Amino acid sequence: MNTQGDIISRIDAIRATLPTGVGLVAVSKFHPLDAVLEAARAGQSMFGESRVQELQQKVAALGEMKMAGEPVPPEVDWHFIGHLQTNKVRQLLRLRPAMIESVDSERLLELIDREAQAQGIVQRVLLQVHVAKEETKTGFLPEELSEYFRRRGFETLKATHVCGVMGMASNTDDEMRVAADFRRIRSVFDEISRMCPDLRGFDTVSMGMSGDYLTAVAEGSTLVRVGTAIFGGRSYH
Ligand SMILES: *Cc1c(COP(=O)(O)O)cnc(C)c1O
Repeated sequence: MNTQGDIISRIDAIRATLPTGVGLVAVSKFHPLDAVLEAARAGQSMFGESRVQELQQKVAALGEMKMAGEPVPPEVDWHFIGHLQTNKVRQLLRLRPAMIESVDSERLLELIDREAQAQGIVQRVLLQVHVAKEETKTGFLPEELSEYFRRRGFETLKATHVCGVMGMASNTDDEMRVAADFRRIRSVFDEISRMCPDLRGFDTVSMGMSGDYLTAVAEGSTLVRVGTAIFGGRSYH
């Protein structure tokens, strides 16, 4: 278990290694709301969750604290980073995530857009690009993403703001491979930026986790998603 202060000192230590302009999402999945509160009270604002139900519980608990007049940190911005099932889109959008980082198909993107319209909001998203060698990881292939932007598929979106890309490197000790994966993700982002210079606010490259965020930053990440190195190990049950 974490003792008071550990979370904050770990966040500070990680921040000290990040260049100006690189954001930090503290991935709080499988950790209690208390851990989020401790970090948020110390100024951490972006938190990552990978399951709709768990996010729902944390958002509800925060809401109850507010209702009870308990002090709530001023800013908690949720980033959804897990695989999103199409039948959970409505529920997720109701939780008003600041960003959905894990949009992995055009169909999902269209569903999000439709639901955002229905709820009268603009949803910010990243498109997940698949470069890792594991077949289990989801996302657009680099070629699919290029093709989507070449035909300017985003122009039909009415209530979704595509803010950039998200990706993961292969799960391997081979640092060259990890660096090459990140370079590929960054190059997809650069290609899209060149192809569509009129895309507004397309400025985010989310890559890098506890074990590889320094490599990701060296390869051009603008947003790292760090869980274990902040909150400690997760027990999945
Ligand atoms: C869990 C998760 C992370 C954080 O992983 P750690 O190794 O604990 O830092 C980052 N990104 C995604 C998409 C995740 O699912």
